[in-house]
Amino acid sequence: MFPQNVFPDTAEINQQGQLIIGGCNTLELAEEYGTPVYIFDEATLRNRCRSFVNEFRKLYPATQVLYASKAYINPALAKIFHEEGLGLDVVSGGELAVAQYAGFPLEKVYFHGNNKTPHELTEAVEQGIGRVVVDSFHELDLLNQIAADAGKVQDILIRVSPGIDPHTHVYTTTGIIDSKFGFSIQTGDAAKAIRQALAKSNLKLKGLHFHLGSPIFELDPYRAATELVLKFAAGFREEGLEMTEFSPGGGFAIAYTHDQEPPAVAEYAETIVSTLQSTCAELGMELPTLLIEPGRSIIGPAGVALYRVGAIKDIPGVRKYVSVDGGMGDNIRPALYQATYEVVSAGKANQESVEKVTIAGKYCESGDVLASDIMLPTAESGDIIAIPASGAYCPSMASNYNLNPRPPMVLVKDGKSRVIRRRESYQDLMLCDIT
Ligand SMILES: *Cc1c(COP(=O)(O)O)cnc(C)c1O
Repeated sequence: MFPQNVFPDTAEINQQGQLIIGGCNTLELAEEYGTPVYIFDEATLRNRCRSFVNEFRKLYPATQVLYASKAYINPALAKIFHEEGLGLDVVSGGELAVAQYAGFPLEKVYFHGNNKTPHELTEAVEQGIGRVVVDSFHELDLLNQIAADAGKVQDILIRVSPGIDPHTHVYTTTGIIDSKFGFSIQTGDAAKAIRQALAKSNLKLKGLHFHLGSPIFELDPYRAATELVLKFAAGFREEGLEMTEFSPGGGFAIAYTHDQEPPAVAEYAETIVSTLQSTCAELGMELPTLLIEPGRSIIGPAGVALYRVGAIKDIPGVRKYVSVDGGMGDNIRPALYQATYEVVSAGKANQESVEKVTIAGKYCESGDVLASDIMLPTAESGDIIAIPASGAYCPSMASNYNLNPRPPMVLVKDGKSRVIRRRESYQDLMLCDIT
């Protein structure tokens, strides 16, 4: 059975059992652009943006959706997010530079990160970034000084850590007490940070942010953390905290495998908005602007990686390795945190899955495996293998390990395709080297 739930909205299988995305035959895309290649379906991308904007605004008109760039961004994608009315989260000077290059209005850009450098903060303040989400006492002092030097008052949010475990992988859990991110509410640091921020002459505290981790398949952590943080914030009203913005972060889950059923966007919206409304009513608090920061859940489902099968090694009674021409250099997630994926043979999608194989990459690490012990139709060298739900945290974490050039990014729509990032060349690999 074709796992439709993990593929882009436009994915279909034609009469010959070939995978079509955005009206384009993936076998032809692999031929034209070479492999590995990442295919992004523009319809899915825009549908996901619209579902976040519409589902939240339907319940709570004062919602601003900020796309979390670290999931993956480049100038062409930034233009699409801008067209869809989204703002941006950035976590580095590099992401900020892309936002700026793409003509993104910087007042809709929020700067996150646990250790922004003085250089990054100076650029952000001077360029007029919308908000800096302050993450440490060091940053409070540094940013206040930088804003003072620039003759500005910088709008900020404070990132608090509510101490709520969203039950995801330990590497992607961020809102608990043992985390490098944010000011802990439990330890008293968050209270101290709010008081310090309110006393800074060149900072204007607009509200609080938290981000629990990712991907979060449960609704309850959002409900619990929203209530906890709002109640915490209410305690500082007399000291001058006006919560005009409230940001419960991102972390919305997507399906990576056929059996996963993440909550719909409407369910996340209902949970967060109803908790926000009832808690504010209970506390007699004015309703703030709601900031939502999806990354994975927007770009993840839009992306499909295509690889070509090369060597096949059968170790009788042990394992059958099917090696492809990409791997951990373009998708580190299985090696980094045991991420799992569906795998589809793009030219044999109507054939029975008859053998158990492990899809290995071409990198010199035994841990370079994209999918372990999955069922496929009989694999042959030259087959095109599609790995869906790979739009998020794959291209953005890609490396040049083994000096493999990073793959191109191709946008498909209505039967047409266009390169939005070309394949790297060998010259690119040596661009920064000096002899
Ligand atoms: C990573 C991150 C996000 C986005 O997380 P997703 O799981 O991609 O939705 C949002 N906000 C902050 C602060 C983040 O660090």
